[in-house]
Formats: sequence, structure tokens, C-alpha cells
Amino acid sequence: MEKTITAIVGTMFSGKSTELIRLLKRLEISGYKIQLYKPSIDDRYSKQNVSSHDKLEFPATIVNSYEDLEKKYNPDIKVLGIDEIQFLESDVLSLLKKHVNNNGIVVVSGLLKDFKDDYFKFKDGKKDMSELIRIADDVVYLKAICTYKENGEICGREATRVQRFIDGKVAPKDSPLVLVGSTESYAPRCRDHYHFY
Ligand SMILES: [Zn+2]
Repeated sequence: MEKTITAIVGTMFSGKSTELIRLLKRLEISGYKIQLYKPSIDDRYSKQNVSSHDKLEFPATIVNSYEDLEKKYNPDIKVLGIDEIQFLESDVLSLLKKHVNNNGIVVVSGLLKDFKDDYFKFKDGKKDMSELIRIADDVVYLKAICTYKENGEICGREATRVQRFIDGKVAPKDSPLVLVGSTESYAPRCRDHYHFY
């Protein structure tokens, strides 16, 4: 396996971290050395590992920004992995290209779209996740399962979007990303049960 950028993208609850760990473990078993980075914003379950909801783990280096990642990055390690890449600045895309052009292997995962169904923007707001798709050789597109309930039954169709709720109601398009004094939640939705903005 040479010179490949694999992008694992999808909605929340679609198993992106599980897939990232699976691909990295497969490469590790083949004897490749791996460096995995994770932005510090995601502190779910563990600070030193990338964890999936089903508790699979892989050792990761936590980074605060792309600048931090660039300092810790080792060009001699064959496999470069990044979890939740959308939480880094868009300059990270140049590093992916540099690594792969240097005969490296890149495997990254991230949220494709936000709750408004727009492509998720990188931390600096300069580019969005469509740019990652553009530079990738292989795109793994993951879906969740719609949890909308009707007459006590779960919809169960494939969900390609996530709905945001504030205090139990569908969040308005202009709702602030950080909320004070309200409870917010997210749920996977199929096309029929997603409120389009
Ligand atoms: Zn549904």
C-alpha cells in the first residue's frame, strides 16, 4: 500500500473512529509504523487514545492545533493518521499531500457536514471538508441509522445527516455553536426525517 490518502467521512454516530482504528490496526499488523494525531477538543473517553463508541482504542498524540501537529509530525513514519481532522486548521491538507508525495500512507477521519447540512469548515474557516474529498484517493462514506420514532417504532433507515436539538426542539439555523443554560443534543436522521434548512 503506497501513496494513498484515505478519507473516512460521514455523519456523527456512523462509526468513523471505529473504521479509522480498523484500518490503522490492519496496517500495523502488516508491519508499518504509525503516527496518529487527535485534536484536543475531542476528549471523549480518553486523552491519549483514539477511542470509538464501542471502546476500541489506538494510541494517539493529542495536538492543540495544526501548528502543534506540524512540530510533532515525523516524516519518517510511514503511516500518518488523524482523527476528527475537521477540528484542525485547513493547513493540515498540505501536510497530507506532502506526506503522501513522500511515499507515505495517510488515513484520516472527520465529520463531513454540520447540523445545517453544510460541509464542515476547518477550524480557520478557510476551507471545508469537500477539499479533503477532493485530494483523497479513497473515500469511505459512512452512515448512521435514523433514530426518529413514530408510534414507538424506530425508523431504522440509513442516516446521512445529523439533526441538532436545543431543549428538545430542532435547532434554528443561526443557533450559536456554544450554548449557555440550554441542553443540546444531536440525532442521526434519514432524508425523510431531517429538517432541511
Ligand atoms: Zn428516518
